[in-house]
Amino acid sequence: MTLLSGKLIIVAGPSGAGKGTIESAIMDKYQDIQFSVSVTTRPRRDYEIEGEHYFFITKAEFLKKVENNELVEWQEVYSKNGKLYGTLRSYIDNALEQGKHLLLDLDIKGGMNMKKAYPEQSVSIFIEPPSLDVLEQRLIKRGTDSPEEIRIRLDRTAEEMELGQQFDHKVVNTNLVDAVNDFSEILTQTIYCQ
Ligand code: 5GP
Repeated sequence: MTLLSGKLIIVAGPSGAGKGTIESAIMDKYQDIQFSVSVTTRPRRDYEIEGEHYFFITKAEFLKKVENNELVEWQEVYSKNGKLYGTLRSYIDNALEQGKHLLLDLDIKGGMNMKKAYPEQSVSIFIEPPSLDVLEQRLIKRGTDSPEEIRIRLDRTAEEMELGQQFDHKVVNTNLVDAVNDFSEILTQTIYCQ
């Protein structure tokens, strides 16, 4: 029998909530937590490394993996022009068998599906912006979106925050230091308490 002591730390949240920054700080702080590398059909960005940020594959390769049931969960992410993202079953099972803790950065639906697939091993954490008002102010200040785009984005965020209530834990990103402390406290109570 294999002893599965690794945990899956599932992190999701509306875009603009500061998910990536918190994740980096957490992985700097806890060296035994590794980033879970997903497959995606979106093009690689200049700074990204194959096998470190993602496994970049073609749509045909992705669909083959879906057909062969190689993905635990997968989603078409609309805000990314309908690109496909998925979590490899073999990647997760290998890590868990070796007792490794993985941090999974997933979209909200993917996060909920992942938790359903591995209920015993998962801790799901939802990252929220302090409020819709603060997010609106940040978007206005950034000045890259039209008022119409800002409205659409805020509506989507409100919907996402509703779905986020189904996660095990919530971290409100008022500022990075407090958010990392809150996140760490959740880890202390869940994965580092055994
Ligand atoms: P980006 O293209 O900016 O790296 O990621 C876009 C979105 O895809 C983010 O919300 C990220 O959390 C999500 N994502 C990345 N990998 C996966 C995955 O394997 N499954 C799901 N469902 N979403 C993912």
